[in-house]
Amino acid sequence: MAKVYYDHDADLQFLKGKKIAVLGYGSQGHAQALNLKESGIDVVVGLRKDSSSWEKAESAGLEVRIVPEACAAADIIQVLLPDEIQGRVYAEEIEPYLEEGKALMFSHGFNIHFNQIVPPKNVDVFMVAPKSPGHLVRRMYEEGKGVPALIAVYQDYTGKTRDLALAYAKGIGSTRAGVFETTFKEETETDLFGEQAVLCGGLTELIKAGFDTLVDAGYAPEMAYFECLHEIKLIVDLIYEGGLGMMRYSISNTAEYGDYSRGPRVITEETRKEMKKILSEIQNGEFAREWMLENQANRPAFNAVKKRERELLIEQVGAEIRQMMPWLKKNK
Ligand code: NDP
Ligand code: MG
Ligand code: MG
Repeated sequence: MAKVYYDHDADLQFLKGKKIAVLGYGSQGHAQALNLKESGIDVVVGLRKDSSSWEKAESAGLEVRIVPEACAAADIIQVLLPDEIQGRVYAEEIEPYLEEGKALMFSHGFNIHFNQIVPPKNVDVFMVAPKSPGHLVRRMYEEGKGVPALIAVYQDYTGKTRDLALAYAKGIGSTRAGVFETTFKEETETDLFGEQAVLCGGLTELIKAGFDTLVDAGYAPEMAYFECLHEIKLIVDLIYEGGLGMMRYSISNTAEYGDYSRGPRVITEETRKEMKKILSEIQNGEFAREWMLENQANRPAFNAVKKRERELLIEQVGAEIRQMMPWLKKNK
């Protein structure tokens, strides 16, 4: 089991007298910058000049500078930019200001683990990764609580890197909930695997396969949509709150028997074998290489699939059915 740290393991003093540049003011950037500031830490937000977030950050009382100026002024640089542009921004606007003894940090390990960013040896490199979207990081902090987070030390030049990571985690409220120690490798590989095999790739294919099976058998697409997509949320909410057991307690006995007896026929030995293959492509760098090349070529395959998926029947039917659900936000 991983080691867990709480408030009493972390000391904000390690951040006193230091300035933290939070680069980006998106989901994580706004939450982390505001929480740190309210924890009494000196924060500067780094953005591009034409960023639509510039005014938002300033009117929230934060100091805002362009990225190179924020990096020059800071002792600790937290990179909360989209992962696929971090390598370029690092080379052009961060590295020139990464002087000896400074610290470079992330909330996701991808660019360090896959060598898209290779920091100099004479700086600290660490991660503090909240296990939740930014708005929850912010809301929990405001309520005097926090969300669990991961910390990881990649490079410890000053000998104080773990203390910095714990202090930062405290500054955003996460030691109130609990902080797990991991490595850049573990965080990156498990994150990619989860989204590919289960959360995004696995789930969307499962939904589509179920929907298609019903529609191909002559059932109404609307019925197929309710049964194979809409109801996912009801089930996931139960699992999220109380694990598989609570979900199975809440569903009917018939549903529970169908779960036990049919589930393993959907996720077969073959599927598990394929999952292992997906994991090894993550571990040996094949996936990262493929995704980097795809980006360099302006995403031809990505854009083609994206277009095809938008045109699926399940998406057309879903758009109409969701019009009938007044509780859903109309987000296009
Ligand atoms: P967002 O896409 O929400 O925000 C990115 C921010 O970067 C925006 O403020 C954007 O502002 C700014 N930005 C984009 N390009 C540039 C540029 N060239 N120069 C300066 N600023 C730029 O990102 P997230 O918060 O989702 O992700 C940030 C990091 O946090 C990633 O490493 C991600 O993996 C990690 N993470 C994210 C989680 C989440 O819940 N979203 C959870 C845990 C980790 P603008 O476009 O206005 O310039
Ligand atoms: Mg991810
Ligand atoms: Mg049913």
